[in-house]
Amino acid sequence: MSTLDIRDLHVSVLTEEGPVEILRGVDLTVSSNETHAIMGPNGSGKSTLAYSLAGHPKYHVTSGTVTLDGEDVLAMSVDERARAGLFLAMQYPVEVPGVSTSNFLRTAATAVRGEAPPVRKWVKEVKTAMKDLEIDPEFAERSVNEGFSGGEKKRHEILQLTLLKPKIAVLDETDSGLDVDALRIVAEGVNRFKATSAESGDGAGVLLITHYTRILRYIRPDRVHVFAAGRIVESGGPELADELETNGYVRFTDAVGTAA
Ligand code: ADP
Ligand code: MG
Ligand code: MG
Repeated sequence: MSTLDIRDLHVSVLTEEGPVEILRGVDLTVSSNETHAIMGPNGSGKSTLAYSLAGHPKYHVTSGTVTLDGEDVLAMSVDERARAGLFLAMQYPVEVPGVSTSNFLRTAATAVRGEAPPVRKWVKEVKTAMKDLEIDPEFAERSVNEGFSGGEKKRHEILQLTLLKPKIAVLDETDSGLDVDALRIVAEGVNRFKATSAESGDGAGVLLITHYTRILRYIRPDRVHVFAAGRIVESGGPELADELETNGYVRFTDAVGTAA
């Protein structure tokens, strides 16, 4: 059983006018076999949370803690976070020119698993995962994310998720910019990952960050958290997502005094 524990997290970014506090005391616990959704208006700091968990150098943790199974995540390098079992899919995946997708995946899997996966088994694993995600086999030889459409990038993220098998996965707007078919493929990929993890172990914890409620029709969260002005302002069950779908974020943005 794994637990990602975020306690009173404060994060600032350095702007031309000086440091600006974006995260203002985030508290959240995500454990194995749980799916949490963070929902909130644009600019509320959702991606800042994802970047902070990923260890992006632009985001400075000024106070608070993040632990994974008691280990200090904030003290870990980006690689160490991945090896510890944390997976982060960013809202805007980076392009890696000159590195083929298949090489990238194998290098990442080797780093995370601590040894190179046996070639035959690996090839089969990749093929199956790509087929499940309806990714054209020729993508394996293309540079990572280079010239990929928005939907292709998101499917590539889920391909990584499938192959790296993290304990806790943080997915930032994996649903944005997807048409209905791509959304279904991506959501099914996440659900398949959850099911496989549950069959073979404790089950993965998933933190789904999103602006829109529509992905939650495919991936049912156990808990829904509303994010506004850099922190969680309300938590509830899936019914909270239904309320947001009907009423939007106005009730929450009014309460914290920001524009939606
Ligand atoms: P969300 O993902 O909820 O839309 P973000 O985390 O992207 O929100 O942004 C939250 C706020 O922090 C915004 O006002 C944004 O302009 C600011 N911000 C985020 N990253 C940076 C950065 N690297 N430099 C300056 N401001 C930033
Ligand atoms: Mg945004
Ligand atoms: Mg964002």
